[in-house]
Amino acid sequence: MSLQASTHCVATHSGTAPDRQAVCVLGATGSIGESTLKVLALHPDRYRLHAVSGFSRLERLAEICQQFRPARVVVPTRKIDEFRRCLANRGLLGNDQPELLEGDAGLVSIAEDPTVQSVMAAIVGAAGLLPTLAAVRAGKRVLLANKESLVMAGSLFMQEVSRSGAVLLPVDSEHNAIFQCLPERYVAHGQARTQTGLERAKTLGVERILLTASGGPFRCTRAEDLHTVTPAQACKHPNWSMGQKISIDSATLMNKGLELIEACHLFDLPESAITVVVHPESIIHSLVQYSDGSTLAQLGNPDMCTPIAHALAWPERIAAGVSPLDLFQIGSLHFEIPDTTRFPCLSLARQAMQQGGSAPALANAANEIAVASFLKQQIGFMQIPQMIDAVLQAVEIVKPESIAHILEQDVRARTFAQHWLQKHKAP
Ligand code: NAD
Ligand code: MG
Repeated sequence: MSLQASTHCVATHSGTAPDRQAVCVLGATGSIGESTLKVLALHPDRYRLHAVSGFSRLERLAEICQQFRPARVVVPTRKIDEFRRCLANRGLLGNDQPELLEGDAGLVSIAEDPTVQSVMAAIVGAAGLLPTLAAVRAGKRVLLANKESLVMAGSLFMQEVSRSGAVLLPVDSEHNAIFQCLPERYVAHGQARTQTGLERAKTLGVERILLTASGGPFRCTRAEDLHTVTPAQACKHPNWSMGQKISIDSATLMNKGLELIEACHLFDLPESAITVVVHPESIIHSLVQYSDGSTLAQLGNPDMCTPIAHALAWPERIAAGVSPLDLFQIGSLHFEIPDTTRFPCLSLARQAMQQGGSAPALANAANEIAVASFLKQQIGFMQIPQMIDAVLQAVEIVKPESIAHILEQDVRARTFAQHWLQKHKAP
């Protein structure tokens, strides 16, 4: 019997064990949400889905309710009647219906639900900040996919993690890889930290983080051709299947910029300690270099079920339903320096991290407006970095004192970006 088979026997033995972990999935109908449900479905003996949220795709959300029978579901206020009908159409009536909650208050309520142990934060964009933070403040195991919340709230977010004792586990594949490659003592949870990240890195011989990037669909596209690429071309990622917004972010390399900022906060390191490496095969998900000349990497097929399963089970390991890597089939791996002339978003994000304060929140808000405008074909692909740059230059950067203050900065950036859009959008 293989090691995997024998582990499986032990895991399924408990059947209806009462100590199954209760999980809340924020953004269950999205790409990460769906991958999370896939992993949960593989382990009904370990996990039960207690609460979910969805913003659109209500039919799919009702189907999820039919399959997993969560106790609580959140939908936008204006869609609650429509969703009730979707449930009824599937025979979920009366007591068979989950408790329905609405809007932002509903999201916060399921994120901090006392029954829930693990919260998958998989809402896209700034909308994820408050529910993710609610999960952190309630001291949950927080499986962080929503990188935007960490980009926006950075230090304040991490202070809340330390204060509440929440266990923050990175789901973004690169950060999950780095988490796996750093020494256990570096990433240990629940310990009062007396040293800064840089001091800990020095003590433990951590020299540098290498953050890998696929380079996106336009890695080999000439600069002059980037002006006319379409949203459909930009959404076609060579290796990963993802939501629309992160697909565009991957095409502009803003995703790598956001991830650079995410890594700085997660691992408490300055941006100068993180090098971005273009690796078109997306097999190595990131690396850590040590003072003795060792470089540790985490490899795997590009499937988000792997980091999701890792975060769900950590410090244990569970099957993710992902086929193992076939190195003979892959043959060779390649590495390049990112081209920040064709992809200025990466430099803009690095600059925002250097500027500090509210700059990353401003850049994030500007990017969200720019991506939405590009998807509506109001601006061209190369106007995405232009809009971010314009916001960073025009909106005053402040030191945020509170989450409310960050949300104010987010609104200021969006307001300026909308003005910029009116002046520059296609007629
Ligand atoms: P997606 O667009 O596929 O799904 C987003 C989810 O959020 C959906 O369930 C949607 O209904 C919900 N949602 C959207 N707007 C909302 C709002 N205003 N309020 C409440 N809910 C809302 O996105 P995704 O690709 O799954 O990405 C989710 C997050 O995970 C993003 O922050 C992304 O950067 C991060 N991430 C994704 C991947 C990936 O492979 N998809 C990888 C790493 C990190
Ligand atoms: Mg990533």
